Amino acid sequence: VKYPEIDAVIGPQYVNRFGEFIPLILDGYRLVMTDPSYQNEDSTLPIRKSGLSAFVNVIYGCNERCTYCVVPNTRGVEQSRTIEAIVNEIEGLVDLGYKEVTLLGQNIDSWGR
Ligand code: SF4
Repeated sequence: VKYPEIDAVIGPQYVNRFGEFIPLILDGYRLVMTDPSYQNEDSTLPIRKSGLSAFVNVIYGCNERCTYCVVPNTRGVEQSRTIEAIVNEIEGLVDLGYKEVTLLGQNIDSWGR
């Protein structure tokens, strides 16, 4: 082991699952989770206070690498959420009385191309 003081190296695709890794690390496992692409539905829900309008992510990450931007390094490469996950989140918002949803994504292409 080259760096025994390091317990885990976790890339941006796994940040939302960090809570799952803590027990493993405490049990002595050493983790390297750095896949550049990993379909990972957010396990955390945004804090929403409006009650009327909400933002819903449709993709995570970005492939563009503009020189001034941290997103590709903090959120990883582009990964689309599944349509089912997006629809489920929006249906949940409708059930809560939300009237307006804005879809968020760095790059959104038309489907079916
Ligand atoms: S998130 Fe926007 S600004 Fe940042 S690298 Fe992607 S396209 Fe560029």
